Amino acid sequence: MRSPHSCRVGLRASAPAPLCAPGDRRQGPGEALGKGRGSLRRPDDGRAETGRIARARAIRPITKGVSGLLLPDDFHCRDDGDRAVLALAGELADRCAARAAAHDREGTFPHENIELLRAAGYLALTVPAGCGGGGAGVFRMVLGQERLARGDGSTALAVGWHLFTIGRLAQASPWPAAAVRRVLQEAAAGGLINAAVSEPETGSPSRGGRPTTTARRTGAGTWRIDGRKTFTTMAPALTTFVVSATVEELGRTGSFLVGRGAPGLRVEETWDALGMRGSGSHDLVLDGVEVPEDALVEPNLQPDRGEGPAGAEVRGGPTAGWNLHIPAAYLGVARAAVDFATAYAATRRPNSIQGPIAEVPHVQQKLGRMQRELLPAYQLLFTLARRWDDDPAARGLLGQPVAACKLVVMDAALAAVDLAMRVVGGAGLSRRLPLERYYRDVRPGLHNPPMEDAALAGFARHAVAEVAPAGPREAGASGPHPPAP
Ligand SMILES: Cc1cc2nc3c(=O)[nH]c(=O)nc-3n(C[C@H](O)[C@H](O)[C@H](O)COP(=O)(O)OP(=O)(O)OC[C@H]3O[C@@H](n4cnc5c(N)ncnc54)[C@H](O)[C@@H]3O)c2cc1C
Repeated sequence: MRSPHSCRVGLRASAPAPLCAPGDRRQGPGEALGKGRGSLRRPDDGRAETGRIARARAIRPITKGVSGLLLPDDFHCRDDGDRAVLALAGELADRCAARAAAHDREGTFPHENIELLRAAGYLALTVPAGCGGGGAGVFRMVLGQERLARGDGSTALAVGWHLFTIGRLAQASPWPAAAVRRVLQEAAAGGLINAAVSEPETGSPSRGGRPTTTARRTGAGTWRIDGRKTFTTMAPALTTFVVSATVEELGRTGSFLVGRGAPGLRVEETWDALGMRGSGSHDLVLDGVEVPEDALVEPNLQPDRGEGPAGAEVRGGPTAGWNLHIPAAYLGVARAAVDFATAYAATRRPNSIQGPIAEVPHVQQKLGRMQRELLPAYQLLFTLARRWDDDPAARGLLGQPVAACKLVVMDAALAAVDLAMRVVGGAGLSRRLPLERYYRDVRPGLHNPPMEDAALAGFARHAVAEVAPAGPREAGASGPHPPAP
């Protein structure tokens, strides 16, 4: 198998028979992590293990009380495969947590964490088992991502885009089958992929702006791509970029696969943000980048909307459930803050009182409110993720609830982290403690899709369409497919 670092972008129509077909994946509760050629490795030994052995070694009891939340960590787990993902993510989270403060302070990308996750097989978590991956559905992705984010939000958010891209490609992709197969194989071998769609001129692509990045056909039958992308998360480590561009001859937006080594492509390290500082969300510059004709993998998008893969995610649709990687990451960050503040309150004993501050009534109230904030957020996230996997027939109904989940989780996460800061008091401002990082890391979630205003407008349209009296005018106004949020 080709190394992901040498991946070519050309996706030949005459590619060999598929190793796996997108429809092969299993997402039910019986799905075995590491089934087939997939493997999970403990993060410390680097040796491949079969899924079964990894499960047996990785599972350890997670008891109520350890988590500091009202329910045990594994409360929503369906089977040992789920618990194995949770346990592995926990080990990885602990390792990443040890480096999180340094990367946050320096604004550096945590390459070591990516290598750690790659060696453990975590980067292939959502690659179908038949392609050599972990075969995880949405629930296991969410389970792992929330746990990983407790250790390092930046690492979790970054790899979340990759797990999401792979998962939804495997489930239902408008791309040519050969392109999907190729990307899945590269991901199974450790490759990393993410969408580069945001631009300075368009802002969030979900708002419908057309990319100023352009793709023109050359005389040699290739595409020439020019433009600048912003917020390209994990840019320092990606092996493949999914670049949206206006295809001039079509007057439409298309998505192109661009390999890291393509001449004319460079990453400008512009990411110096308040939070998620280790996510490597830099600018991507495409200066006369030439890619083969078949690098255009998604040419059939709506003519007037700049929707690439990230744009598609806010439309709902057949892969909407994979968007839950975003609330999972931010919920994990909030959870880390709550766990920290709770432990702090239980042990902080100022000499003005007899016991710990956890026994002071107003602190106790705040500790209780943090739990109250997070519990329903967890319930909604995990319930939707499980339903997505277990009930394909219900997926058509879940687009709006999935969008709502992100809003609910963000409100809860922001509120919980704010309460955590109040519990800890002035010490929480210190860079010697991780709390101020959690406080900063949770903020960027507001600016990840779906955007709140767009989602709320979508809910409103959906709700109004449900109650609007039937009739030619109303039916025409709402239509069978509500407009994109
Ligand atoms: C941590 C992080 C990681 C990210 N990773 C990626 C990535 O990997 N790939 C990628 O492509 N992008 C990524 N993004 C970018 C993200 O998807 C958005 O494009 C970006 O945050 C800008 O969106 P915005 O709505 O905040 O800004 P803008 O779209 O610039 O909007 C700015 C303000 O104007 C308002 N506004 C603008 N246009 C409209 C409109 N038409 N209607 C109503 N209101 C409008 C908005 O509500 C907002 O208040 C990432 C962002 C963050 C924060």
